[in-house]
Amino acid sequence: MDTSAEEFDGSNQDNMGFDKKTEELFRLLKEVERELYPGSKYSLHSFLVRLLHLKRLNGWSNKSFSMLLELLKDVLPEGETLPKSFYDSKKIIKDLGLEYKKIHACPNDCMIYWNETKDRTSCKFCKALRYKQFKGASVNSSSETSNIPSKVFRYFPLIPRLQRLFMSAKASNQMRWHVEGHTRDGVMRHPADGIAWRKFDEAHTDFARDPQNVRLGLASDGFSPLSMSISHSTWPVILIPYNLPPWLCMKQPYMILSTIIDGPHAPDGAPKRLTGIEILKQLNNVKNKFGKDLLAKSRKRKWDDVDNLVQNIWNKKSIFFGLEYWKDNMIRHNLDTMHIEKNVFDNIFWTIIEC
Ligand SMILES: [Zn+2]
Repeated sequence: MDTSAEEFDGSNQDNMGFDKKTEELFRLLKEVERELYPGSKYSLHSFLVRLLHLKRLNGWSNKSFSMLLELLKDVLPEGETLPKSFYDSKKIIKDLGLEYKKIHACPNDCMIYWNETKDRTSCKFCKALRYKQFKGASVNSSSETSNIPSKVFRYFPLIPRLQRLFMSAKASNQMRWHVEGHTRDGVMRHPADGIAWRKFDEAHTDFARDPQNVRLGLASDGFSPLSMSISHSTWPVILIPYNLPPWLCMKQPYMILSTIIDGPHAPDGAPKRLTGIEILKQLNNVKNKFGKDLLAKSRKRKWDDVDNLVQNIWNKKSIFFGLEYWKDNMIRHNLDTMHIEKNVFDNIFWTIIEC
């Protein structure tokens, strides 16, 4: 959440029991909102983001970036606030909460290398190798194996983002809007006006009782970060807090970047509406299959009995069915394919990828 120091007033601090880390965040937010130098139209933050963006676009080395900072510090008027090195710049962005975890994944999307699979060197389903191989190198020759992962996804931890949302007194009040500020006049302005929202509340009264319980929408779309490369696309996954009023929940500062996935595939849409319970029933006997090869083979099988038919329709049981309420969610399938303006990412994407 790109919230200004002013909005992050910390007035919720007492009742939420925030710690030293939070105080540090407030201090840092104040610091980056300062002018680059007295009278500058850039804040330190906006200038640093532009500079890191240029670094990434043009492939500047970390050393050349530090050298440029040194020169700029010398040229700028007294009172300038630039950090001394690339390392310090990176630290500022990291401390502001744009930190992410890099997780390796199977190039065929079967699994991620995480927890008990974190040390594996090949996919346990399709056997694809975790690291890229150099041309001509044999699979078993470790000296020829690169340390370049075949596929990586970047995960931005959600809890600190939500905590920071509730740190702002203003935003935290707005998170109760869907109950307290909402006019019920039958006009559809927000997901809270819909049948799906009402049905969900009826089925999960405990969850619905506290208006601060967070309701997230998930949206994704692919874009090509390097315009010359058509074959490469990147899928940012964005979470939208639907507790907020319509004039805020779709605004960039409140959208939460959750993951960035490298890959060419769009999420599939469902052709026919089934209830969650109907789908769960169909999925009961479905064995999850992973990997492009295995999926292609299974589709060629004869549809000779009902079990086979079901297995052919469903490739896997969505992990979301592990959530207690998922079967009651009427708009499970509505992964909103949105059109992400490239500039939404200009400020964060290029900056964080190298940090
Ligand atoms: Zn695999």
